Amino acid sequence: MALKLFNTMGRELQEFKPICEGKAGFYGCGPTVYNYAHIGNLRAYVFLDILDKTLQFLGYDVNHVMNVTDIGHLSGDSDDGEDKMLKTAKEKGQSVLDIAQFYTDAFFSDISKLNIRKPDVVCKATEHVNEMIELIKKIEANGHTYMAGGNLYYDVTTFKDYGKLAMLNLDDLKAGAGKRDVVVVDENKRNPHDFVLWFTKSKYENHALVWDSPWGKGYPGWHIECSAMSMKYLGENFDIHTGGIDHIPIHHTNEIAQSEGATGKKWVNYWLHNEFLVIAKEKNADGTESQAKMSKSSGNFLTLQKLIDEGYAPLDYRFLLLGGHYRSQITFSWPAMDGAKNSRKALNQRIAKILEKTEFAKSLEGVKNIKITQDTALSELENFTKALEDDLSTPKALSILQTTVKNQNISDEQKIALINKMDEVLSLSLLEEAKKILDAENQPKNDVQESNPEIEQLIAERAEAKKQKNYQRSDEIRDQLKAKGIILIDTPQGTTWKYE
Ligand code: AMP
Ligand code: ZN
Repeated sequence: MALKLFNTMGRELQEFKPICEGKAGFYGCGPTVYNYAHIGNLRAYVFLDILDKTLQFLGYDVNHVMNVTDIGHLSGDSDDGEDKMLKTAKEKGQSVLDIAQFYTDAFFSDISKLNIRKPDVVCKATEHVNEMIELIKKIEANGHTYMAGGNLYYDVTTFKDYGKLAMLNLDDLKAGAGKRDVVVVDENKRNPHDFVLWFTKSKYENHALVWDSPWGKGYPGWHIECSAMSMKYLGENFDIHTGGIDHIPIHHTNEIAQSEGATGKKWVNYWLHNEFLVIAKEKNADGTESQAKMSKSSGNFLTLQKLIDEGYAPLDYRFLLLGGHYRSQITFSWPAMDGAKNSRKALNQRIAKILEKTEFAKSLEGVKNIKITQDTALSELENFTKALEDDLSTPKALSILQTTVKNQNISDEQKIALINKMDEVLSLSLLEEAKKILDAENQPKNDVQESNPEIEQLIAERAEAKKQKNYQRSDEIRDQLKAKGIILIDTPQGTTWKYE
């Protein structure tokens, strides 16, 4: 079988045929760094990581490029609203670039905790404004732009295939009332779908970062950075472009109009989009339901750190995500996190039992040199490969891992080799976690926690409160103990404590 990917352009499964044999170049829209990434954003990067590692697993030489949006991302996805970076900078009394650096570091720390490989190229928008200006000049020379009210706009009616990716209805487009929720606040636009390539007039004062350009001193629109940086690092035509589904109707649609409007040729061969992570609906007291929408701009969101504070390991979250296909919505809830945590723990324990029976119980060194030769092992490896080739089906891949672990017809050593191989893509640190379990079991138990009934009682009460989803009470208990200099440590085995 060959790798098949669901191409949003055309909405069909297609065999992946790289431009250059044996190589795969892809661009994933990166984070906007004016706040922490929320766990929904992190889903997009776990998906990218699976794509990245599947391509490598299948033998491709991968070039993975990701941008960091450290300028000009406006509050709305369209061009109205306030610059989010500037807003945070004002609130915190820091410079825009300080804010950007702080949240960029936080982002890379989060993705590393989730075992996500750092992209080969990470490019910052602020360092590529010249490339953006050069690209805009080409778009202008090809007759796609107009100046209005001091800003340079892209005229979407000049681009034949505008709306193809999102399957927008062109009649709706002409009438200016697409299926999208476009709010016309900018009277300079000829068409509500037109968008700004270069701003010299901003709706808000004292924009912190401005550059000289042929259209005046100002700053680029949001979409242009992805067109400019992807082409700089991957060429005018490259294999794959990814992002969350929210990017289909505006951001990616506009990226295509810009890139193809500049070069006059096809830009990206495969468009891959991950579905959203949504928060479970909560029942209100009056019986109605409300859904907490996670959004960076509302400030209402869960971070990876919040999961860690609640006693989950980042890999529990990765495990939860791998249990769903990237094109299906995943509903986040605390019980779902408990489920992922428990299943991962059980899996790691099973693997520890296998590891214990091999020479690798002492050290994992050399595991990657074991050749997979047994027929039964090879056939599981083939099943695993097929699952990934089937549009990156991680749920199937995980279930093949589970059957491999239980398969009586595979020798322990071959199982260890297989688990190691599968973990190249799944990246759940399977053997390392199993080794930790063995090491903990073999450690002399001489550092037993001093017992304190009052604290134990409160810990038990907090566990119960968490079970009942009474997070207010559980946080209260944590704070109450903290005031007494007692720190709670949530571990996969339960909660322990220590003096500060
Ligand atoms: P941002 O930093 O807001 O530009 O978003 C980074 C990435 O996260 C983009 O690819 C978005 O499409 C994606 N994204 C945003 N919200 C979610 C969500 N709830 N679930 C999955 N992906 C998301
Ligand atoms: Zn982008």
